[in-house]
Amino acid sequence: MWTEQLKEAAAFIRGRDDFLIVSHVQPDGDAISSTVTVAWALEKLGKRYTMLNEGPVPSRLGFLWKSSDIRTMDEAGREDSAPAKRYRSVICVDCADYGRIGRAEQWFAPDAELLNIDHHPTNNGFGRVNLMKFHAAATAEILFELLDELGLAPDADVATAIYTGLLTDTGGFRYSSTSPLVMAMASRLLEAGVNGPELAEHLLERMTAGQLRILQRGLSRLELSEDQRIAWLWVTSEDLEETGATNEDLEGLVNYPRNIEGVEVGLLFKQNGQQSVKVSMRSAGKVNVAEVAQRFGGGGHIRAAGCRFTDRLPEAIRQTIEEVRKALDAL
Ligand code: 5GP
Ligand code: MN
Ligand code: MN
Repeated sequence: MWTEQLKEAAAFIRGRDDFLIVSHVQPDGDAISSTVTVAWALEKLGKRYTMLNEGPVPSRLGFLWKSSDIRTMDEAGREDSAPAKRYRSVICVDCADYGRIGRAEQWFAPDAELLNIDHHPTNNGFGRVNLMKFHAAATAEILFELLDELGLAPDADVATAIYTGLLTDTGGFRYSSTSPLVMAMASRLLEAGVNGPELAEHLLERMTAGQLRILQRGLSRLELSEDQRIAWLWVTSEDLEETGATNEDLEGLVNYPRNIEGVEVGLLFKQNGQQSVKVSMRSAGKVNVAEVAQRFGGGGHIRAAGCRFTDRLPEAIRQTIEEVRKALDAL
């Protein structure tokens, strides 16, 4: 039961000290917000903690409370160098599966116990304790409930973090996950001091020049299947270099093919090297793209999912489209 899960998660936190807080590789708004929200709660409870992520904090999220204290693998230790210390108590937020933790796992003690807090339906409950709500709009939503359970009233700092997680994972309170509970939470967060319009402007409206240029290039490569139900774009790391865009500038690009009238599945292929392609999948509602992604070892949500290929770009495109087509045929 949900209230039991909340109590168990609270007990996990109360009964330990000196935590490692981790989230998924290439962290997004919910990942970073959830990381600092857990840190905020631990600080209020007088607990010690370290925040860690494999990759850097996107610069757009640098305004979040203590986000600059999140250690990243590049600073904190390369893959081949040993971490300063290994942690026995780990809190993992917004990770669809264990593999999404990436190289941050190097900081786990061999006997580490994990508290897994997440909202991805493909999460298999890899934690010692699991706090999972699959219809939650964001991990930040779950954490708001956990703060209540821990008896902590949000101040403006943590309210801003939670609001950021909700805002980004719901595409600005627009996706189907935007439940009455989400709106009630948003209301409480605004009362706690969140500046809603400023966050929406900063996180959703503002674009870097690089972002607009990579959009321009990506859109120039738009392709549609014969039946016009699948649309896709692709970009390479050379494109990023040439346009001055960063990986975080790719966020939202996959929505363009998905938004085309009549399209059921929109795809973005990002080629990272000769043999490495990341795929983002978005569904207009009928196709469960999490299932498609899972066939390639990925996962995510029904309408937003992803996976990786260790193949060349044309091969990754061919295989993905083939599976999407099968999913469409099965409707
Ligand atoms: P995005 O396309 O924005 O990177 O990711 C969309 C959703 O799919 C996110 O909820 C993310 O957690 C999930 N996702 C993306 N890539 C992967 C992956 O390689 N493995 C898994 N398990 N989930 C992924
Ligand atoms: Mn995320
Ligand atoms: Mn999330």
